[in-house]
Amino acid sequence: MYFFSTRGAQKVTGAQAIVLGLADDGGLFVPERFPTVSEAELNDMLSMDYPERAAFVLHKYLDDYDYEGLKNACERAYAQFDGGDPAPLVKISNGVYMLELFHGPTCAFKDMALTVLPYLLREGCNLCGIQEQVLILVATSGDTGKAALEGFKDADGIKIMVFYPDEGVSKMQKLQMCTTEGNNTNVVAVKGNFDDCQTAVKRIFNSEQYKADLKSKNTLLSSANSINFGRLAPQIAYYFSAYLDLVSAGQIEIGEKVDFTVPTGNFGNILAAYYAKQMGLPVGKLVCASNKNNILTDFIQTGKYDCHREFYKTMSPSMDILISSNLERLLFELSGRNAALTKQRMEKLVKEGEYTVTAEELQRINESFYAGSTNEEGTVECMYDFFCNYGYPMDTHTGVAMSVAQEYIEKCEKEKLPKDKTPQPNMVVVSTASPYKFPQDVLYALTGNDVKDSFKGVKRLNLLTAMKVPKSLQELRYKEPRFKAVSTTENLYNEVLKFLEIGTEGIVAQSATKKRAGKKNKEQ
Ligand SMILES: *Cc1c(COP(=O)(O)O)cnc(C)c1O
Repeated sequence: MYFFSTRGAQKVTGAQAIVLGLADDGGLFVPERFPTVSEAELNDMLSMDYPERAAFVLHKYLDDYDYEGLKNACERAYAQFDGGDPAPLVKISNGVYMLELFHGPTCAFKDMALTVLPYLLREGCNLCGIQEQVLILVATSGDTGKAALEGFKDADGIKIMVFYPDEGVSKMQKLQMCTTEGNNTNVVAVKGNFDDCQTAVKRIFNSEQYKADLKSKNTLLSSANSINFGRLAPQIAYYFSAYLDLVSAGQIEIGEKVDFTVPTGNFGNILAAYYAKQMGLPVGKLVCASNKNNILTDFIQTGKYDCHREFYKTMSPSMDILISSNLERLLFELSGRNAALTKQRMEKLVKEGEYTVTAEELQRINESFYAGSTNEEGTVECMYDFFCNYGYPMDTHTGVAMSVAQEYIEKCEKEKLPKDKTPQPNMVVVSTASPYKFPQDVLYALTGNDVKDSFKGVKRLNLLTAMKVPKSLQELRYKEPRFKAVSTTENLYNEVLKFLEIGTEGIVAQSATKKRAGKKNKEQ
């Protein structure tokens, strides 16, 4: 299987698509066609465990990789998840289920792909005959950074460096990142907000001078962000797996349609669901849930993508985003795979902050997608209701999704839509983070109590819900941060050079000489 750029003619193998990350023309890599999964294959997948299902789906796209290698990699990746099943499906009420994707090492759904990506990248380098060491640079607003650090720590021939905005991540997220172990890791705070941080990192990626300089140091830059096809592909698998689990549990017959609601930010997670549908998975509607930053809701309802609006900081920060990069892959498909038109629209978005799709394209969007958004009050209300009614605590991102899922289910009941539907919904809501990752906001939603300290929040949440506290978060309280560097945006490349020169050990030694903040990681 070959991959094309959404903006032009570049044609590469799967391994190249993953190693390069982004096409030369700035486009995203998409498969030349959607591989199909027949009903017979779906039946075969019923008896597979999760890693096998994941390897089966991955190999449909990445047929230049060895199947056994993929399977071993998935087994190793998902063995790090708590509780045996990395993507358990929990029944909440009649016809409504939660797909819990937060049982990985960093308690957010990013782990589903970032535990597999290191293998895809390393093997991809082998397949492409790349000899240099790989340096991964990540700009993060919170969840991706830690998941990437955990995925890549101690990976052979790879170094990873994460930049986060000094003022833009939660205390828990900062602690998670700065206490990371491993001998190939580095974490730097950047003065400014997430956009400043991301722009500064992009400047390194786009500089021919830096790239040549790094090449002379036997180093190749790569990225682990969600536009890499290696992030998208492992996400397709859990939609198949959730469907198969519903069949195995006797909740649906094979062939029956299932709807999915996805809390959406960069459009990566829900795009994976769209890919699963294109492969033949019986999916009804994909419900795109947004918080107060409802640019996608407006786009899916009207066909106009319009960035001229205010940016809100919400309690679901991983969905606070105005430019959803992965939408470009959907635009490419909707336009009948028209690369020239996709390129034109993406350029218009940069220049004018907006673009509009045609009426036919909008109709095609609405065949597959429904969109809705909810504000902070709606999110809190929904989290509270589900805890009271079903004893189910959910995180703030999942709260947004559940609120929109309910709106959709009610709308269907009112309109009796879609017509061929049984009265009972078949709705799977994708749960993207552990409630313990946002303990203060979750506690506030469930009890109205405001606590000032994350770990106090964790303790109270545990008393209230009796839900097990993930070990990785519990241990954080007693860990010393290893990385304390703060950089200006202008100085980032020097931080990169320093890391290449003195390595993790040197960086940690320098941080250790900085004044200690206090014994416990308490918040004031
Ligand atoms: C990243 C993230 C999202 C958004 O996912 P996208 O693939 O960017 O749409 C939602 N919830 C949580 C908890 C996340 O970390």
